[in-house]
Parts: sequence; structure tokens; C-alpha cells
Amino acid sequence: MEIKKNEVYESVITDYTTEGSGVCKINGMTVFVPSAAVGDRAKIKILKLAKNYAFGKIEEIIEKSENRICVDCEIAGKCGGCSFRHITYSSELEFKRKRVFDALTRIGGINGELISEIQGADSPYNYRNKIQLPITKDKNGRIRAGFFAPRSHRVIPIDECKLHSKIFNEAIKTFLEWAELVNASPYNEQTHTGILRHLYLRYADKTNQLMVCIVANAKELRKEKLLVKMLSEKLSCLKSVILNINTEKTNVITGKICRTLYGNDYITDELCGLKFRISPLSFYQVNRDQAERLYNIAAEFADLNKSENLIDLYCGTGTIGLSMADRVNKIIGVEIIPQAVEDAKNNALFNNITNAEFICSDASTAAEHLEKRDIKADCIIVDPPRKGCDESLINTIVRISPKRIVYVSCDPATLARDVYIFEKSGYHLQKAVPVDMFPRTTHVETVVLMSHNI
Ligand code: SAH
Repeated sequence: MEIKKNEVYESVITDYTTEGSGVCKINGMTVFVPSAAVGDRAKIKILKLAKNYAFGKIEEIIEKSENRICVDCEIAGKCGGCSFRHITYSSELEFKRKRVFDALTRIGGINGELISEIQGADSPYNYRNKIQLPITKDKNGRIRAGFFAPRSHRVIPIDECKLHSKIFNEAIKTFLEWAELVNASPYNEQTHTGILRHLYLRYADKTNQLMVCIVANAKELRKEKLLVKMLSEKLSCLKSVILNINTEKTNVITGKICRTLYGNDYITDELCGLKFRISPLSFYQVNRDQAERLYNIAAEFADLNKSENLIDLYCGTGTIGLSMADRVNKIIGVEIIPQAVEDAKNNALFNNITNAEFICSDASTAAEHLEKRDIKADCIIVDPPRKGCDESLINTIVRISPKRIVYVSCDPATLARDVYIFEKSGYHLQKAVPVDMFPRTTHVETVVLMSHNI
């Protein structure tokens, strides 16, 4: 029996897609249902029909999933931030581990016993240490900060968010009070007019230092001193107020020029015993505590000693390699973005690390050069973006023949594809640990150790 658009059917949600949508079968057809929980028995209205699948929405829940919880945010589902505010954190973790397990066993051909339990966060709340909020006027003419709705540039105003540092809520409130007081104008993307583009906040959890950065379509703000006064009166951890100038007609959030209005032009945080300087334009892990957990697992897998050399490919600002500097002979980091390489070099200097070299290059090209230079690497760490490693890079790594390969991945499917190639080339997965860096979203990281079987 076929299913029809706008008709309502009863079904039970049995799975999630990688984007976190519920999945059920109706008359043999696969139907995707956003905001549904596995175990929900519900009346589902068909909104869109394709040849082999359909999209529906819940009209009425007949029997609730035992994993369902009350949604504690008014804009959940609208702001594009959380995919899982409606289920328990433990069932979210189960979903994430299953994603990694399915990918590695089905695509990678790996024995499932080698895949550990997932390392969940201590709390799924308030972990984000960085936010960039577009500024707008709401329908009552009030200046507001918010998030862009998914796949759109419509701003959904917020007063607070359950994912970011609590301190940000007070910073947002105070900034908006200033904006109203001085009658500032939000930036309009269409007409390229108005001043306030984004409120950009960063917080160093470990050291309790806050940075407030205003991205403006102007070289200066009206009553800058008043802004600094209001912020410093309300926020005792304020260490830096920065004006970032972005007068371009662009989707890119920050401009190249920063002017410090108060305090330092950076804040400092600690990760794995090292100090990192965080400026508006530098990269830093968004969930510090879980990043530390991830790096500790990578360090355990790398299992380095003082006579060994480490190559850290896709090294970003160098954090993974640098966190292992004291237990290794030499580190070579490779990263394609010049600014990140500069940051990596500065991070080494700042921590008195002298055994690290950083190369600005594509990872595959650099690995070939290192092979020609006959660099002996005992361990190679790769931490590629979602598309994973090029096959040519995998082949070069296999020829360099390190004793251990540690693969840090943000996409289980490309990880599994790459692991399969390594397996065919004689390396074997020894252990895989999923880590939840981004609670309430669908993202999941995995750390994998590969070596030759002994
Ligand atoms: N290891 C870092 C960053 C990992 S994110 C950390 O833990 O913080 C992936 C990094 O790979 C990004 O910094 C990105 O700029 C870089 N990258 C993307 N494509 C690359 C390529 N082809 N060669 C080298 N680096 C690349």
C-alpha cells in the first residue's frame, strides 16, 4: 500500500539518521521524522514524498519513548544548535557509539570488540567556550543577539543558551543594554548598512578569563568607554574587550583588523598542562574539558618515549603534538592554514618547547617530502577534517612505516573508509574510543590506534 502526502499514519520510531532525525517505516517506506525519539509510537503526518523515502512530522505521540525528556529550551529545533534536547544524554551517547560501531564494523570491517564505550562529557550543559552571535532588531524594535536559523540568515534571537558558558548570558545582556543606551544600529546584510555585526565571546574555563569582541562595520563604536565600563562592572572575569573591524560585504564573520578597547589583546587558557593564548582570530578547542580527554587518549595510544619522533598531520595550532612534547625527541607538525601554523609556532615559544617544527603545507605533499628527507617517525597522528585522508597520504604513511598510527576523526564514515585502506596495507586497528566533544549535537569524535600485528 502506498503512502500519501498530508495523510496521517501510526508508526514506531526505530532509529536515527546521522543528522539526528527519527526514522520509521510506514507501509514499507522509510520516513524521516525530526525531533522524534527512538521508541516513540506516534501519529505521523507525511509532509514530503520522494521516490524511496518521505519526510513527516509528529502530529501526536501515542506512547512516549522511555528516553524522552522535556525540552528545556524555547528555540530548540529552530536555532540549528541542538539536535538532541528531547532525549536523555545517555541515549544520545548510545546513538553516538552506535554510529561509530556501525561505521567501523560495516565499512571498515573491524571486529566490534575493539571499539570501547564512549567517553561522554561530565555534563552536557554549558560546555561551549566560544560563540559568535549576529545582531539584529526583533519585531518590537529591540536590539537582540541570536543564532542564524539552519540554512538561512534569519536571526533567531536568544537571551541564553544551554550549551555555552553561563558567563556569556550576562555578557550578552550587558552588551545589549549598552547598544540600546547608545542607540546603536545592527548591521543589515542586504543593504550593507548599520554597525553591529556580531557579538563574539570567548571564555577560558580553566583560568576564568573572558573576552568580549564586537565585530563592527566601522572603525570605531559610539561610546566605547561606556561599553567597557558597563562590561567591567558586571563581569569580574573580563580580561579583554576587542573591536574587530569588518567593513567588507561578506559572509565571513571577522575582519583582519582588531583594536583592543580594554585589557589584553588575548586571553590565556590551559590545556593538558600547557598555556594557550586565545585571540579573536586564533583557533582553540570549543569544549576544553573533552578536548583534554581526547588528547589524553591520543597520548596513551601514541605511547611515546624520549628517543622517538612524532609527525602530527593536520595539526591546526599544534595542540595535540605540543601536549606530548615533553615525552618525545622531536615533533613535526603539518597544517595548511598559514595563520594556524603561526599560532602553532607561537604556542611552542610560549610554552618553551624547542623540539617542535611546523610546516605550512598540504598533508599529503608534506608527508611525501618527509619521506624523501628520510625522516624516521615512530608515531604519526592524523586529525583530518570531515572528508578524511587522501588515499595518497595513506599510502605515503604506510611507506614511512611508523610503529603506531593514531587517527583522530570527526566523521565515523570517512574514518571507517580510511581504516579499511590501512587494514589492506598491513596496519590493524588495535583500539577505537568514541569521544563526545559536542553534547546535544550529532557530532562524534573517535580516536583510533593502528599498528602492525605483533
Ligand atoms: N589537530 C588540531 C586541528 C584539527 S582540525 C586540533 O586538535 O586542534 C583539522 C585541521 O586540518 C584544520 O586545522 C585544517 O586547517 C587542517 N587541514 C585541512 N585540510 C588540510 C590539508 N589538506 N593539509 C593539511 N592540513 C589541512
